[in-house]
Amino acid sequence: MDIKVVKFGGSSLADAEHFRQVAAIVRADPTRRYVVVSAPGKRHAQDTKVTDMLYHCYEMAHNREDITAYFRQIADRYQAIIRELGMSFDMSGELDYVRDSIQHHTGRDFAASRGEYLNAIILAKYLGFDFIDAESVIFFKDNGLFDDEKTNEMMREELKKHTRAVIPGFYGVMPNGTIKTFSRGGSDITGSIVARACEAALYENWTDVSGCLMADPRIVPDPRPIRTVTYRELRELSYMGATVLHEDAIFPVRFAGIPINIRNTNDPEAPGTMIVANAPDYDSDTVITGIAGKKGLSVIAIEKDMMNAEIGFGRKVLDVLEDNEISFEHLPSGVDTMSVVVSTRSLEPRRERVIAGINRRARPDSIVSEDGLALLAVVGRGMVKAKGTAARIFSAISEAGINIRMIDQGSSELSIIVGVDEKDLEKALRAIYSEFVH
Ligand code: ADP
Ligand code: ASP
Ligand code: MG
Repeated sequence: MDIKVVKFGGSSLADAEHFRQVAAIVRADPTRRYVVVSAPGKRHAQDTKVTDMLYHCYEMAHNREDITAYFRQIADRYQAIIRELGMSFDMSGELDYVRDSIQHHTGRDFAASRGEYLNAIILAKYLGFDFIDAESVIFFKDNGLFDDEKTNEMMREELKKHTRAVIPGFYGVMPNGTIKTFSRGGSDITGSIVARACEAALYENWTDVSGCLMADPRIVPDPRPIRTVTYRELRELSYMGATVLHEDAIFPVRFAGIPINIRNTNDPEAPGTMIVANAPDYDSDTVITGIAGKKGLSVIAIEKDMMNAEIGFGRKVLDVLEDNEISFEHLPSGVDTMSVVVSTRSLEPRRERVIAGINRRARPDSIVSEDGLALLAVVGRGMVKAKGTAARIFSAISEAGINIRMIDQGSSELSIIVGVDEKDLEKALRAIYSEFVH
């Protein structure tokens, strides 16, 4: 029998009512055998995610403040879920243990991970499924990187012992036994890892929107859902800010060719988005698949006459970045110019050293760094086939009165990337959306 792995995000498990919806979805299909959960998310716009509250507890403990009163709010959320589900089980021992551990200085990642840990225990009991702690099946290496091979091996063996199980997302264990998390939103990655380990037929990722939409619904009103998208397209969209799926969640399932179906817990009938390896047809009506954008970028603009003829120029520049542990996002270059796009957060503390280092090593004629850049990506597997797409994008942006700071057509021909001022990002995205979608 085919297996489906289902992952539920924070808003899908924010309260007892959502737990009931989740249970109904899981029970509606007996092939939904492995369930990965996030921590309880926001119940309403002003609410705080449990994960954020746990980070706050960690900070308080770190500053030697007493977390008892603040932690009670977290405990209350879990207790309310248990009570409103009519369950009789007593979680107070677990909750006290978590509180005391955080108070007595366990790591930051341990604190954050308890959101999913506790949620998974409750859901497992509610569904009557086994509970598998992620710390026994998800492994990191000493250098902090995810240990793909060991995880796949151990996870596969463990899953064989359980017909049905709930597994907390977001975290795993270091070789020395401490808990480590993925980056924020990382439960999506756990779901993908579980799907690969059990050779699932499908990885369903249940969230609070009806699939991956053509644009961020917080920016473009009521964007169309994307019915089918390729792994590569989605990777570009999520890397550039479409936060519906963690940008790294693609890798484990893509490797195994398992499709991902993004679904809406609040609208389970909606088909959502299928993410697949190959999709020959694109939507000829809209030409593009989707758009996304992100802020917080800086550009280091370097000029040198005859740069193109100078062997090793690019390497010298990138060596300086490497020495300062900065990764670059994009590298648009011309004949005598090279622009390095990096995140402002990574550049900020080392700006002087980076500029001085490039001056010393590469001896450019000029070098400046500017902040306040946003990049937007227009993504679509059909874009190359449709003439004039780039022209339509650029004129939509300039007709909206927005200055284009940079253009970069990715060599994949899957996307066109445009740099604009941060303040113009939302307006540019709306202009492009209405150019392509009517
Ligand atoms: P979960 O808690 O289920 O993991 P997330 O909050 O991580 O959910 O992701 C879902 C949210 O992603 C949506 O509510 C939406 O605001 C946001 N989002 C941003 N870009 C997109 C997009 N292109 N399509 C759908 N949702 C998007
Ligand atoms: N709870 C974690 C976060 O808020 C992980 C996740 O939701 O996927 O980032
Ligand atoms: Mg998420």
